[in-house]
Amino acid sequence: MRDRFAAAAALRELASLLELLGENPFKVRAYERGARAIEELGDRFEELAKDNRLTEVEGIGEAIAQKAVDFVRTGTFPALEKARAALPPGALELSRVPGLGPKRARQLYDELDIKSVEELRRAAAEGKVRKLKGFGEKMEQSLLASIGVFEAHRHETSLADAQSEGAAILDHLRGSPAVARAELAGSLRRWKEVVSDLDVVAGSSDPEAVMAHFARYPLAAKVEAQGKTKTTIRLSHGLQVDLRVLPPEDFTTALHHFTGSKAHHARLRGIAKERGLTLSEWGLTRSEGGEKIPIADEAEIYAALGLPYMPPELREDQGEFEAAAKGDKFTDLVKLEDLRGLVHCHTVYSDGRATLQEMAETADALGMKYMTVTDHSPTASYAGGLTLDRLHQQWDEIDRVQERVKVKLLRGTESDILADGSLDYPDAVLEKLDVVIASIHTRHSMDEAQMTERLEHAMRLPMFKIWGHALGRLLLEREPVACRVEEVLDALAESRGAVEINGDPRRLDLAPHWARKARTRGLSFVLSVDAHSTQAIGYHLPFAVGMARRAGIRKKEVLNALPLEKFRAAVRPGA
Ligand SMILES: [Zn+2]
Ligand SMILES: [Zn+2]
Repeated sequence: MRDRFAAAAALRELASLLELLGENPFKVRAYERGARAIEELGDRFEELAKDNRLTEVEGIGEAIAQKAVDFVRTGTFPALEKARAALPPGALELSRVPGLGPKRARQLYDELDIKSVEELRRAAAEGKVRKLKGFGEKMEQSLLASIGVFEAHRHETSLADAQSEGAAILDHLRGSPAVARAELAGSLRRWKEVVSDLDVVAGSSDPEAVMAHFARYPLAAKVEAQGKTKTTIRLSHGLQVDLRVLPPEDFTTALHHFTGSKAHHARLRGIAKERGLTLSEWGLTRSEGGEKIPIADEAEIYAALGLPYMPPELREDQGEFEAAAKGDKFTDLVKLEDLRGLVHCHTVYSDGRATLQEMAETADALGMKYMTVTDHSPTASYAGGLTLDRLHQQWDEIDRVQERVKVKLLRGTESDILADGSLDYPDAVLEKLDVVIASIHTRHSMDEAQMTERLEHAMRLPMFKIWGHALGRLLLEREPVACRVEEVLDALAESRGAVEINGDPRRLDLAPHWARKARTRGLSFVLSVDAHSTQAIGYHLPFAVGMARRAGIRKKEVLNALPLEKFRAAVRPGA
């Protein structure tokens, strides 16, 4: 079964190709929206596609539904094939260079016969690109920088994409009667934001049968290597997948071993040695005599080494051993079940796709106690930012919807941080809100000094604010803004504020490495959904939790793990 992500990717490819071909932008957007709606459908996609009922979903019309159904059946659809045939090879790759876009890619092809990123890099380096109409020297420089980002991430896959590939591979493996158990390991299991390959571990007493079955995976473009205990395949869009097969009784230690990280395991092996033990993927044995110690689950490995259980998200040798030595048992790391409120929700008032009522009902269905309604502020006009009038209308609607739902709806805004670091509504308005998220949406490319000043100014404002998707990165697309992050965190710690861990799988911002720095300053966190649809709520939450756990964030540091009244008091914007 081709999953929803593959179908969405095909629709996105069509959208990009059509844009490149100069097709009507509304049609292009419709395919992009359709792709997103399909991704967010979750497991319902399969069933709806099978029953031809995709048109019941908002954002999916007849034309898109038909293409998705064709894709599920055949792996492609006529419009995609036609569009692919109409363009030179490399056009799509070019259009994916961050900041380039299909229109300019087309111009480059028409005027300079540029068909690949490499050709573009050469032309830009030779100063040919600046001469094109609408380009100029500054654009040429920023294109060169963008190509650098593109090249650096060429062989990486985002966590969300890797998870969906991984889930499909597990389904396939578990379909073989020879497989006793199978799990994903590696950096994916440790919730790293991007992965360079996928590690899969299977337990079986018939490894050859498992290897043969794995090599028949329908989306495998190539079998790179096939051995007795390890087989490597490459998927059609480049991701490498390594499968290791061990006897069922060694599954747990193998899964632990291949989850890594290398640095964490080096520490574990050292500790094992001191205790007269040897640890490897084949098990935990006594160094003298080689007697195997029975291991039922990963916690027993740690217990045998005199350590508390360390969850995969912490296995980086970034302080977990030192913390354990001081008595940390890691049992209070924040969990999905700890969250009581949804923070950072958009509605149709700005650029969300669902109404307030629909978002609130979804929050109710998840058993959430409160939800912050934080649409965009006026300056974000491209995202339908709310004028003061519209904001007041929304307050009325909040009152009306509140009568029909259990979840407490809180008035809020996602205010732009303007170029000078000020917020987008006057203080008198902000004070009437329950919660203010402050985010950067424009002018990401300011230099480090300017950006630091802009952010520090915003963070020092006396209003309580949550620093939204802090560094503005888009995974594999846009690097974080340049700023002196620790100084900005200092400013926020001295003022009144908290840091968001944004669960949109394209953002995952603030990154765990910086969130650790925020922790050392005593800052609190909110684990946000940044949801623009009802489906995104449930889809985004686990990502926010995963990133927070990697940063070692505890339940007591998370504001939206608090009960309603305590949360309200903690985030109240009044100066
Ligand atoms: Zn935002
Ligand atoms: Zn947002």
